[in-house]
Formats: sequence, structure tokens, C-alpha cells
Amino acid sequence: MLEGRIYNFSAGPSMLADDVLLRIKDDLLNYEGSGMSVLEMSHRSKVYDNIIVETEAKLRSVMNIPDNYKVLFLQGGATGMFAALPQNIASTGAADYIITGNFAGGAHKEGSKYLTDARIAATTKEENFARIPAQEELVLNPEADYVHVCFNNTIFGTKYPYIPETGDVPLVADMSSCILSEPIDVSKFGIIYAGAQKNVAPAGMAIVIVREDLHGKACPTTPNVWNFKTQAEKGSMLNTPPTFQIYVCKLVLDWIESLGGLEGVKKMNEEKAAILYDYLDTTDFYIAAADKSCRSMMNVTFRTADPELDAKFVKESVAAGMSNLKGHRLVGGMRASIYNAMPREGVEALVAFMKKFEEENK
Ligand code: PMP
Repeated sequence: MLEGRIYNFSAGPSMLADDVLLRIKDDLLNYEGSGMSVLEMSHRSKVYDNIIVETEAKLRSVMNIPDNYKVLFLQGGATGMFAALPQNIASTGAADYIITGNFAGGAHKEGSKYLTDARIAATTKEENFARIPAQEELVLNPEADYVHVCFNNTIFGTKYPYIPETGDVPLVADMSSCILSEPIDVSKFGIIYAGAQKNVAPAGMAIVIVREDLHGKACPTTPNVWNFKTQAEKGSMLNTPPTFQIYVCKLVLDWIESLGGLEGVKKMNEEKAAILYDYLDTTDFYIAAADKSCRSMMNVTFRTADPELDAKFVKESVAAGMSNLKGHRLVGGMRASIYNAMPREGVEALVAFMKKFEEENK
């Protein structure tokens, strides 16, 4: 890692790879001889047009997005999409939500403002969202306009170990905290959306991947900036798009390609997550929060038996050169977010610190 930078385990905004940061630095004052930075560039310029076109093409290639899906770069983050979804595709007003955590609940609450029948198809709230419900537990409405899932639960550290089967009802997934972490079969989803600030780019953008047959169902009051069909027709340029985020996304995709694409990234992420989980499985000092059947590769949640020790852990981890290990208040304890850009050495340093802390405090 570059001199002076620390291992930042933030859940988002989170680390960008050194290679990406260095390219931003090189490009910053004068992008490819244009005499200006991307920060200053008109989104209607030829130079910028090349950037957005290339970013979309790269995302399609890296994620293997089928031709019958549109890719949108929108503002409003993932939270904006909680509202945009029902406004775009709920033609009958009925939708199913699977509640596996805070953001899944947030999507349901926001969606309910626009839906007449926002059902909860399953929830693991009573288990403090420590696991993902199995397919057999889902009570799905075959008449629903869509089924919504939060594929990786950033706060609780769980991820779907399977893709829910929803018959003819489109499956919509919030992939904010797992997009680009491994290959995913896009064709199994009606819509995939994600806030950018974990694995894609800086904060301020949502990526939305929409199957074409879901276009044109928007209710008339849908804001134009969030109308998927309109934005698709305008190449995400109905208004000024998040220009810098799109450019950084391109650099991140270049970096992913250099790692062997999403297969390479998956292998790297599995190895990093295994370093942490293998250790958690061999000690009684720390307790892993998420059920083994659905552990997230991106957000690893754990605690000791004593909240005061947890606080001491967090404090001392900062002194040891690591930041943002405090768990979310809904789970307590610690959370290590180990997105793509967290180097393997960062995870190794964390485990070494955990072992030392255990020795000193058990
Ligand atoms: N969904 C998930 C899974 C998240 O992790 C987050 C943010 N951490 C959100 C939605 C909200 O995203 P945003 O802040 O981009 O609106």
C-alpha cells in the first residue's frame, strides 16, 4: 500500500485501490491532453462521451450483462432507488419485500409510500437478522409486480447463499455492498441496483441494471431523473450525470480486468474472507455475528463477550493503524468491511491484531 495510507475497514465510502488513486492523480490536472480535469469537463463534450461509453461497455463486459438490459448511472444513491423502483415498475401496486436487515427494511418502508400492497414475504428480524431465510420460507405473491431483496446486508454481515426463485415475478436486488465482488448471473434478475461507494466509485451515484421489458411501466408522477426508460433513452444524460464517479468507475473496472475479471476478484475475496472467518472459527474469544450458512465476503461482523472489551478493541485498533472497525449500533461489536480494494495484507494485519488482543485480554 502507498506510504502513509492506513487499512480502512469502513462500510462505505470505503477504500479505493492504490492503482486507481494513482491514475486519478495522474489524470487530475490534464485528462488525456484535453487541458482540463474530468472534474471540470462538460458531460456533452466528445472527451467525456468517450468516458461514459467506455465505462458502460466495460461494465457490460466485466459483469457479462446481457444485451436486453440497460445500464444507467443515476444520482440519489441506493436510497433514491428505494423510491424509484415502485414508481418505475409497480403497475399494479403490489410488491414483495424480503427483510434481511436495515436497508432491506428501508427499501420496504420507502416503497410502501408508493405501493398499495407492500408485503413482507419473509423476515429474520426476530433473530436480529443473523441469517437469510431459505427459499421455502418465502411467502410470495404470484401477482406481485416484483420481489425485492437486499443481496448483501452491510450492517449484519450476511449474504444470500442462493438466488431466490420468484417464477414470473421479476427479482429486484440491492447489491450496494456486493456488486463487482464476484460473478453474478444477471439474467436471473429483473433489476440490479447499487450505490457506488463500496466497490465501484466515490459516493454520489447509483448503478441500475434494468431488463428492457420492465421499461415503460412508470407512473406519470415519476421524476424524470429517476425514470428508467427516459434515462435509458438519454444515455443517463437527461441531466448532468455524476461525471467523476462514472470516470472512477471506469478506472476501477480497468483494475478489475487486471486482476483477471470477476473470477479473479472472487478468488481474492474468498481468500481474504477465509483468513478472517477461519480464525473466528478457531477462537471462543470472538463471536461471529452472522450464521455460517450466509456469511458475507464483504462485511465481517464479530464481537467479544463484553461490550467494554469491544470498545477497547476499537480504540486500540486505531492506534495499530486500522480504522472504522466499530460495528453498527444495531449489531454492536466490530465490523470489518473488506471490499475489493482492501488488500490481503490489511486482513492479515487485522487477524494478527485480533490474536494479540485476545492474548492480552482473555
Ligand atoms: N443498501 C445497502 C445494502 C447499503 O449498504 C447502503 C449504504 N451503506 C444503502 C442501501 C444506502 O445507500 P446510499 O447511501 O447510497 O443511499
